[in-house]
Amino acid sequence: MTQKFDVVVIGAGPGGYVAAIKAAQLGLSTACIEKYTDKEGKLALGGTCLNVGCIPSKALLDSSWKFHEAQDGFAIHGINHAGVTMDVPAMVGRKANIVKGLTSGVATLFKANGVSSIEGHGKLLAGKKVEVTKPDGSVEIIEAENVILAPGSRPIDIPPAPVDQNVIVDSTGALEFQSVPKRLGVIGAGVIGLELGSVWSRLGAEVTVLEALDTFLMAADTAVSKEALKTLTKQGLDIKLGARVTGSKVNGDEVVVNYTDAKGEQKITFDKLIVAVGRRPVTTDLLAADCGVTLDERGFVHVDDHCATTVPGVYAIGDVVRGMMLAHKASEEGIMVVERIKGHKAQMNYDLIPSVIYTHPEIAWVGKTEQALKAEGVEVNVGTFPFAASGRAMAANDTGGFVKVIADAKTDRVLGVHVIGPSAAELVQQGAIGMEFGTSAEDLGMMVFSHPTLSEALHEAALAVNGGAIHIANRKKR
Ligand code: FAD
Ligand code: AMP
Repeated sequence: MTQKFDVVVIGAGPGGYVAAIKAAQLGLSTACIEKYTDKEGKLALGGTCLNVGCIPSKALLDSSWKFHEAQDGFAIHGINHAGVTMDVPAMVGRKANIVKGLTSGVATLFKANGVSSIEGHGKLLAGKKVEVTKPDGSVEIIEAENVILAPGSRPIDIPPAPVDQNVIVDSTGALEFQSVPKRLGVIGAGVIGLELGSVWSRLGAEVTVLEALDTFLMAADTAVSKEALKTLTKQGLDIKLGARVTGSKVNGDEVVVNYTDAKGEQKITFDKLIVAVGRRPVTTDLLAADCGVTLDERGFVHVDDHCATTVPGVYAIGDVVRGMMLAHKASEEGIMVVERIKGHKAQMNYDLIPSVIYTHPEIAWVGKTEQALKAEGVEVNVGTFPFAASGRAMAANDTGGFVKVIADAKTDRVLGVHVIGPSAAELVQQGAIGMEFGTSAEDLGMMVFSHPTLSEALHEAALAVNGGAIHIANRKKR
């Protein structure tokens, strides 16, 4: 007998699994189809984020930062020790255990909420039917009132540097190195390239980042990207801007990379090369020719502001649709879609999706940059507070960076919060909460912040917008 569900989700990443849980919570009969298996061949839920993305990269970033601190950061606290070493397989093994815990946690949540977990490859057919090809090759057709496509994305390959997952790796391969490469190349100075470059640099690799663009971190506020370039360079990342990779040749255990820069043709040799030039949507064998769902010119599933495709009752969310490729964006789209299936008037505020780069210092922002606002002709007031003036940051010996709050000069409404520094991701989230409720810089300045906290830097930057910061000399006078 054909199974029929209120909601069938294809893909169990942060978009799909959250949508499936929410749908079941709202009383809808729900199935979630996923095909990804771990190294042991077992179904692993959680998508890119839990298996080979957000979580494993943060596990390695945290381990490598602790090693770096133990080597170079403890002495100032009076902690003297010698001979700190790094057991790379143990570090990578810890990461694998975290992944296992979280992915099996999703399976537990599916059971607890009554989501039917189906292993296999899902394909949308006409008439909201879904074909599932099981691991044994058998095929089942499922019927659905609503289908949510959440197949995610995969790394982009570039012909000049074909990934072999040995010498030339993508982000997944770069999470699995069993020893520290002496000379590590990274193509692409985006979020993933900088995070993975930082991991291996902290463990002792000589890291060179080759970035085709002349501008560093173009999406960030210029003040933040300048500070980031200075700090990461000081940490030892050799970031070459305007360097476009044109070819590579693997010779045994090393790879010779050709690139062009302002001076002409260049050559550089690495022991490992990470290709981190972005990600593309996964739509391979996802849509039957007559299913009615269309792709846009860049290969993303075409959706409206509410993630509805061109077929009524079929939705698409996460990395496979337009917008930022971020786990929290995928999850919130999933929640929005399910609420709307239930008839609720849910929507998402795409203007307030925070971005984070988990380097040290962390880089995070929400809202618009000063340069974007100026280009739009919006007059702004800006308040900046450096962590060097924060008692809490001094106590932690972590004083690099600043908080920058940008407010509309006429209304004082906060339009952007940009942070480079300790706990930037958490501080920016506070800004996002305020901005969602239309906070002014004055509102933030009038709130009581605990002392001593890093959050006080946000408070002071908000005060500085109108020349009222207490713990720095104000550039702007009241
Ligand atoms: P995915 O997580 O890609 O999940 C899609 C799932 O669908 C996969 O499991 C796939 O196997 C399955 N699937 C695909 N097609 C089918 C099919 N036909 N049938 C059955 N199953 C199918 N984002 C952040 O917000 N913060 C971070 O710190 C962060 N760090 C990252 C670090 C790295 C190294 C990488 C690579 C990514 C990172 N991201 C981060 C991005 C984040 O992982 C993605 O934005 C997020 O996972 C997208 O979620 P999704 O549900 O759309 O797709
Ligand atoms: P992101 O899309 O944020 O992951 O960043 C990927 C980066 O890779 C972008 O900044 C691109 O400019 C960069 N990039 C893409 N192709 C090349 C190439 N052939 N050589 C160097 N950098 C590249």
